[in-house]
Amino acid sequence: MSAPNIETIVSLAKRRGFVFPSSEIYGGLGSAWDYGQLGVELCNNVKQAWWRWMVYERDDMEGLDSSIILNRLVWKYSGHEDTFSDPLVDCRECKTRLRADKLTDGKCPNCGSKELTEPRPFNLMFRTHVGATAEDDESSLVYLRPETAQGIFINFANVLTTSRRKLPFGVAQIGKSFRNEVTPGNFIFRTREFEQMEMEYFVRPGEDEQAHQEWIDNCFGWFTDLGISKENLRLYEQPKEELAHYAKRTVDIQYRFFPEREEEARQWDELMGIANRTDFDLRTHSKKPEDAEGKRLNPDSTEDLSYFDEATKERFYPYVIEPAAGVNRTVLAVLMDAYTEKTNDKGEKRVILKLHPDLAPIKVAVLPLAKNKPEIVALAKTIKHLLQPAMRAVYDDTGGIGKLYARQDEIGTPFCVTVDHQSLEDEAVTVRDRDTWAQERVKVADLQEHLLKRLGE
Ligand code: ATP
Repeated sequence: MSAPNIETIVSLAKRRGFVFPSSEIYGGLGSAWDYGQLGVELCNNVKQAWWRWMVYERDDMEGLDSSIILNRLVWKYSGHEDTFSDPLVDCRECKTRLRADKLTDGKCPNCGSKELTEPRPFNLMFRTHVGATAEDDESSLVYLRPETAQGIFINFANVLTTSRRKLPFGVAQIGKSFRNEVTPGNFIFRTREFEQMEMEYFVRPGEDEQAHQEWIDNCFGWFTDLGISKENLRLYEQPKEELAHYAKRTVDIQYRFFPEREEEARQWDELMGIANRTDFDLRTHSKKPEDAEGKRLNPDSTEDLSYFDEATKERFYPYVIEPAAGVNRTVLAVLMDAYTEKTNDKGEKRVILKLHPDLAPIKVAVLPLAKNKPEIVALAKTIKHLLQPAMRAVYDDTGGIGKLYARQDEIGTPFCVTVDHQSLEDEAVTVRDRDTWAQERVKVADLQEHLLKRLGE
């Protein structure tokens, strides 16, 4: 089956409670979305899977959770105040505001006019004020962070001394970031408030290129391990003119988010960026003096973020490799990739969301075959309670069994457990597989172990 387009996912997401348009009862708020009962579970599962893979399963990683609002000087020295902007143009005909770097043929996509203003920089950081000061008081101006990375750099010395780490090691962080995007859109692909999963990996200069390549391969493998098909993923080497000012090399992992677009090149967009940020960040946040090479000096910082190597007695600024992914874009890619349709033996079309079991919002649904039979209902509820400490389980009796199965298939629940008349006698239930629709009989006493084993397969 060909991949679904984003519209198919928008409709499924709203119909089943993954994602709702935000503030809808007041007419909505452009490109803002709320995650419903299934969406919050899916986001949490993506974040947990990333954290487990990135932090727990490695020997060289620490976690961090820094503030969203940081001292304004962080953004001055990181370069964001001066350079974190997109080139903005206005259409003179219909007044639409556009990103100049996203215009493919120099025409307004809204009205087709070529009458556009000259591009000018538009800073993407959201501004606000701390404390009870006037709105125009520059001294209280702060920003909502546009990336989580800077929170890691400014804590480099704290983590280094308290964890007693030696290079190479990394610091991982998951959290919200905010960008006042000129052209948000495509559902949760580009929003002004989103969540990032970022890791800064500190290495000796000279070991950066190899570490970078290893992280590119690792990250690609993470997405395929989550079940995203290789055909819908590709690596994109950013050409020199696209590189951020601090980057030596950046490779994006792209997903085929727009399969309906005719031109192949336009079907792909960024899911994750993996940048070699050199020693730019640690250097730029380091206090004066002294930089023999005449590189950027900082009169405001109180800390030198250089690293001292006990073995070689050398002092230097580590290079940084940064894999940066979006939670929301990962959720979108996962939903698109898991979406399949199958026709049942009555000729009816069924949607099956073939989510990786680790990501599925609900792991098992316990369903009574006859809801008017109190003993069956009671046993089904007992089984749900038995399972729930070990996995997200739900009980549902609000329809016939065919309908209940179809509902669980559509939200990606790997297993349904059906309690029937015979269960009362043989203390066994039917376990139904989402992907194959195959059924097997399992003793209630063995059920939890059976499901955990199959969920981990
Ligand atoms: P783009 O070129 O699409 O604007 P970017 O290169 O600026 O993205 P990064 O700064 O590398 O993005 O951020 C890392 C990741 O954060 C991206 O790969 C993406 O998954 C996510 N991300 C960035 N901006 C947004 C946004 N506005 N909405 C949702 N996710 C985002």
